[in-house]
Amino acid sequence: MRRRTFLGALALATLPTLVGRPLLAATVKKRVIVIGAGMAGLAAAKTLADGGYAVTVLEARSRLGGRISTSTLWADAPVDLGASWIHGQTGNPLTALAKTIGAPTVTTLEDSQIVYDNNGIELTTAGYRNLESLRTTLENAVVSAQNNLAVDQSLRSAIDARVNFASRTAADQLRMNYLMNSDYEQEYSGPATSLSAIWFDDDSAYRGEDLLFTKGYAALPEYLSRGLDIRYQQTVKRIRNPSAGAASVETQSGTFTADRLIITLPLGVLKSTGVTFDPVLPATKTQAIAKLGMGVLNKCVLRFNRVFWAENYDWLGYVPTLNGQWAEWISLSRQLGKPILVGFNAADYGRQIESLTDGQIVAGAMATLRKIYGGAIPDPVGYQITRWAGDPLSLGSYSYLPVGATPKLRDTLAASVNRTLFFAGEATHRQYPATVHGAYLSGLRAAQEVVSAG
Ligand SMILES: Cc1cc2nc3c(=O)[nH]c(=O)nc-3n(C[C@H](O)[C@H](O)[C@H](O)COP(=O)(O)OP(=O)(O)OC[C@H]3O[C@@H](n4cnc5c(N)ncnc54)[C@H](O)[C@@H]3O)c2cc1C
Repeated sequence: MRRRTFLGALALATLPTLVGRPLLAATVKKRVIVIGAGMAGLAAAKTLADGGYAVTVLEARSRLGGRISTSTLWADAPVDLGASWIHGQTGNPLTALAKTIGAPTVTTLEDSQIVYDNNGIELTTAGYRNLESLRTTLENAVVSAQNNLAVDQSLRSAIDARVNFASRTAADQLRMNYLMNSDYEQEYSGPATSLSAIWFDDDSAYRGEDLLFTKGYAALPEYLSRGLDIRYQQTVKRIRNPSAGAASVETQSGTFTADRLIITLPLGVLKSTGVTFDPVLPATKTQAIAKLGMGVLNKCVLRFNRVFWAENYDWLGYVPTLNGQWAEWISLSRQLGKPILVGFNAADYGRQIESLTDGQIVAGAMATLRKIYGGAIPDPVGYQITRWAGDPLSLGSYSYLPVGATPKLRDTLAASVNRTLFFAGEATHRQYPATVHGAYLSGLRAAQEVVSAG
């Protein structure tokens, strides 16, 4: 996922942004259960454990990190199958955290991009100019929609109406489809036909280029987890809150009780029927869960025996015939020093691709690469493919705002219940949703709320 830099949208962090500060002084040693060992859960757990609370983390997987998932299948080239980047390094609390623990990073250059037209040939200078002009047209259409729409509608229909999409040349239509996928769907993970025209981009971003972890993002959750009591393979089925200050959690293998719970279940899991609440959650919260969207971004990581692509660029773009298919690629050759390409598919196609076999997915990727680089390029020597929508412990990649949702729903999702159940996770962060830093900050916020609840 590439996150555009929103100039002027610098966030004002009001919370402590690094764990380990002496913010807490628990007079009575309260028992806290944290559900989920992703960044939100680990940030909360470490903060409270450091503050003297008795914390237990329940995690369904047999690993840390949740949607941070560093694969070590290729021992010489760790690959991140979930989050890859610290988006916007300036002022981002994760930049400081990575530095503190000595996790090596390299800058990915947003502007380092080559774009291939639908025929597989690089855009000409005039083609690049046309693409930029179409991008400006789309951005103006978004601004116009956000300034004028009285009733929300999908990003796609708001743009189409404002740019007279139907009357555009076939070439312009393909390029506009490419831009809507690359700039909006890849970033926000929901289909343009579903994203709220008014609210979809109501988030903030840190300044600066993105940072990629050369040895894997997993270093961050691993650091946060040190010294914590984490119980793996504990799939939470039922959460009970019989009275204020009392809670219990049933997993497939037992029942755990605590004074407070911090719930960091992904929005996709909250939407499913896999975890039940007794008593049921307030209607405002169940509505927020229903109305917020869980989108999809999937990766197909291809390893070759040599670099055959334009290795001076970090990003490769392709204007596809079919909307959103194999349009966005990152080359890891400069950043990892290995001949690895990652193809991204988001939104509708990102979801559809999950029903294909690995062989079919690799064949689709290679068909696009052969269109660009010719039939003689080698087959990959290895591949790794994600299916985040089908992952029962995630049920999607990250949250977005569809038509009918407003940013305030994220606050509703974050709100505590009965001073006993506290909620964190990327979907609860109004300012930085869909990111690792949003998840992390939400965990710090929930920990603070537990302290304030007494
Ligand atoms: C492909 C992809 C690329 C991304 N790229 C980036 C990026 O480059 N930069 C960025 O900032 N963000 C990126 N993101 C988003 C980022 O990964 C997430 O926003 C963030 O990691 C979410 O953290 P979290 O703690 O909220 O949730 P999670 O990491 O999902 O943690 C929740 C935990 O709950 C556990 N769980 C689920 N159900 C149960 C249950 N019933 N019982 C017990 N435990 C359960 C899960 O196993 C998981 O460990 C990407 C996401 C994906 C999928």
